[in-house]
Amino acid sequence: MKNGKPKVGVLALQGDFEAHGKALARAGADPVEVRTAAELDSVDGLVIPGGESTTMLKLLHYENLFEPLRAFGAAKPIFGTCAGAILLANDVSHPRQESLGLMDIGVQRNAYGRQLDSRIARLEPGEESRLTDADIEAVFIRAPIIRRVGGQARVLASYAGDPVLVEQGRHLVATFHPELTEDPRVHALFLDKVRENGR
Ligand code: GLN
Repeated sequence: MKNGKPKVGVLALQGDFEAHGKALARAGADPVEVRTAAELDSVDGLVIPGGESTTMLKLLHYENLFEPLRAFGAAKPIFGTCAGAILLANDVSHPRQESLGLMDIGVQRNAYGRQLDSRIARLEPGEESRLTDADIEAVFIRAPIIRRVGGQARVLASYAGDPVLVEQGRHLVATFHPELTEDPRVHALFLDKVRENGR
């Protein structure tokens, strides 16, 4: 924490980490790129960006970051978007793949048919989400679908009947890309978690 600004890392091995850095700064954080376990140690929370989860997983092992990341998540908040949500889930299908297992959700990769591969939608956040003042513009890019939500997890917003923004304790996942729109509310929600966790 610096001048009341939480220091939030963005996993910068692959994917759209730069856009997350900008979105975190807009929402009031001090963003830093994380590529090593030492850098991970220095942050109060972490964003795992969108990208290609299989590639990210390989790089996590190659950089010896898989176990440090799991340990980090046992104590500090992680926000996973799209590929990041896939990495945080307990179980991953289509195809099956190893994951950090930090959130009790089941995800199916690349779950929207080809026609709907990528699109922009408007979400009405649920009453409990603290995001209720206006719809959220959601950009989906080869997104997974969250097929199962465990008892400890809470759905904050859905699209076409499927959960797309889910929290569980200190962690948050989105199957869309809030870093690609100007609306800072989803990142701000994560910063609230980082601040609460630091208390
Ligand atoms: N399709 C990618 C995967 O399965 C995720 C897409 C994204 O992060 N935008 O890893």
